[in-house]
Amino acid sequence: MSDYNDLANKIFPDAKERKFYEEKYPERDLKEGTVVTRFAPSPTGTMHIGNLFGATIDNKVAKQSGGVFYLRIEDTDQKREIEDGINKIIKALKDFDVIADEGMISDTESIGNYGPYKQSERKDIYQAFAKSLIAKGRAYPCFATEDELNEMRTKQETAKIRPGYYGVWAKYRKLTVEDAIKKIDNGEKYVIRFKSMGDENKKIKHHDVIKGNIEFPENDQDIIIIKSDGLPTYHFAHAVDDYLMKTTLVVRGEEWVSSIPLHLDLFKALEVKPPKYAHTATLLKSDNGTKRKISKRKDPEAAVSYYHEQGIPAEAVTEYLLNIANSNFEGWRKGNKDASIDEFKFDIKKMGVSGALFDIVKLLDISKTVISKYSAERIYEESLKWANRYDEELVKLLNNKEYSLEVLGIERGNAKPRKDIAKWSDVRENIEYMYDEVFFEKERNYEFGKINNKEEIKNIVKLYMEKYYDENDDKQKWFDKMKDLTESLGYAREVKDFKQNPEKWKAHVGDISTVLRVALTTRQNTPDLYEIMKVLGKDSMKKRFSYIEEQ
Ligand code: GLU
Repeated sequence: MSDYNDLANKIFPDAKERKFYEEKYPERDLKEGTVVTRFAPSPTGTMHIGNLFGATIDNKVAKQSGGVFYLRIEDTDQKREIEDGINKIIKALKDFDVIADEGMISDTESIGNYGPYKQSERKDIYQAFAKSLIAKGRAYPCFATEDELNEMRTKQETAKIRPGYYGVWAKYRKLTVEDAIKKIDNGEKYVIRFKSMGDENKKIKHHDVIKGNIEFPENDQDIIIIKSDGLPTYHFAHAVDDYLMKTTLVVRGEEWVSSIPLHLDLFKALEVKPPKYAHTATLLKSDNGTKRKISKRKDPEAAVSYYHEQGIPAEAVTEYLLNIANSNFEGWRKGNKDASIDEFKFDIKKMGVSGALFDIVKLLDISKTVISKYSAERIYEESLKWANRYDEELVKLLNNKEYSLEVLGIERGNAKPRKDIAKWSDVRENIEYMYDEVFFEKERNYEFGKINNKEEIKNIVKLYMEKYYDENDDKQKWFDKMKDLTESLGYAREVKDFKQNPEKWKAHVGDISTVLRVALTTRQNTPDLYEIMKVLGKDSMKKRFSYIEEQ
């Protein structure tokens, strides 16, 4: 009589003993309490913000514990792979400064001692572990054809019973070793299934790092572990890889939480300790009063490439992701305005249990604050880098570096820096009026404020230039002169006086400066007018005012 060993040798004659791999990949030499995490994407599409959310958490948790964060590519579904999928993942992570300590560094190369880090190159390893399960009677070949499986499904549906391959439905589970070997010799196609010993009527208790204590019925499904192409399914590869690569914490989306009973069942059959699990809440978007999953099909901000294209700094995205990940982040940031995000002590246990709202408006708001702290030089460099890829017009402006640094330096580097730039794609719109070559080239639409009488406006700009403007004035003097001009024209010198007796004057000093501001820039809202005048300089101002006078 043949035994399971014969079957195991029949199916995987060349597979090594699993001990070989266990010795090859010893325990990591890490201090107690250090965390080993992994980001394990499939190269089947462009990266979703939810993936980046997970990877950011993996990276943060591992790094702050002095542990290891590695990148494993789960490419066992080769039909769904996209072109250059691995490089795209690596590049997307790099764009957000999520740099793995180990794992794939290009589509063919990797670093680290626990590789290969690409599942399609680990076939031998999975087969060794599958062989060990067959030899123990905990896995078996299943010869069910497509038709047989369809028939089973229809019967289950009609009878309204739980779907799947389990218990009485697990037809080939009962095949004798002899019969199985005969079928293999006959050339019949098969997959390898796990032989579950679970009982659906019993419960397992599990502690999820985020979700807390959860209870599920035990797994009793004989799931496929090795497909007919010899590659493993996600579930089996997960168990083998996270065991051999010594992952201590699996952070993954909550769509996987229902797989917990199965995964624990697999670890038990393999007789190894499972990692801890942290299932993160799905990112949601508010849409017409309801909340729904953020989707690549409907929401541009769902694709990670969006942030790069728009020129939203990686730092702002990371900061926002940590903000939704840990509710105490906001308070920390308030108390540590200038600290690097690396200093924030992330606590995975404090992550929300239910859907996390992703709000691009809030993200852009954070981005404005992040950018407001950058120096003019940094804004110059980063927006130029962005513009070189996405905006030729901006490159032209920035070619004049010296002047651009002055423009970008307006209201910057002080206690209350300007906050009008949320992304590099905002830069052109916010600075172009400062460049004569653009200002005079483009069609201009002047929208004056309270004072909008043409003759009055001409009079104001003329008088200002002739009598009140001096490029050497400091800010105080400049402002006093603005008030002198206001008074000389019969308007209120001080805003507060105007407010007390509004019927007494037609307008106040603020309205006068609006006239000058619009005449110089076409806009009512700009950064500080004194600084704008300083950067524009007398010649440009004269030209801009003359244009108004000639209208
Ligand atoms: N390859 C799986 C995915 O892309 C990974 C899930 C996990 O992290 O275990 O969803």
